[in-house]
Amino acid sequence: MKNKKILNLFIGSNNQGKIKEIRDLLPEKVQILTPKHFNLNSPKENGTTFKENSFLKAKFFSKKTSMICLADDSGLEIDSLNKLPGIYSARWGGKKSNFNLAIKKVYKELKKNNKNWYKIKQTARFVCALTIYWPNKKFINVMGQVEGTISKVKKGKNGFGYDPIFIPLKKKITFGQMNQKEKCKVDHRAKAFKKIRKFF
Ligand code: IMP
Repeated sequence: MKNKKILNLFIGSNNQGKIKEIRDLLPEKVQILTPKHFNLNSPKENGTTFKENSFLKAKFFSKKTSMICLADDSGLEIDSLNKLPGIYSARWGGKKSNFNLAIKKVYKELKKNNKNWYKIKQTARFVCALTIYWPNKKFINVMGQVEGTISKVKKGKNGFGYDPIFIPLKKKITFGQMNQKEKCKVDHRAKAFKKIRKFF
């Protein structure tokens, strides 16, 4: 059966940086609503994987709004930190989602782990799980990821979250130094999006 194109979509996120990137990845004709429009808070992210968390957010918001909902759960995995912050990426920013604080914690943890951390290539990746959940309980889940390394210092003012400390593979600059168009050519979210494009 051919998929019916989605024209009205609820984006299950309160992260403005993420909402902006998702908006720009969707065709213009898709009308979006976000938790702000319904005065809704996000559910507790008590899943143990990106996939579980994206699923629980998409289901929660679809049930609350009776709309088709797209939710993203994403984060940064640093190999020498046993893949942390991982699903805790947002939580490392504290209650106020302070990304400077989250980056400080990354450097603190790297140093705690190895005082010569900056002499070693710190491999890392951004991971993104996307779930679309329909009010008839149908859902689909896809993943995307981008490999890279952690910059020794914070660089660039673009993007959000950990963008100023992530250098994607084969590039010399951080996501924070790229404009959104450049970032989207290689990033985890855009890769996951390619897999759900047929629904829009
Ligand atoms: P959540 O998926 O809303 O739980 O939060 C994901 C967190 O991971 C964000 O708050 C950021 O800290 C981080 N993150 C996810 N995607 C990106 C990205 O593209 N750039 C920078 N940080 C990201």
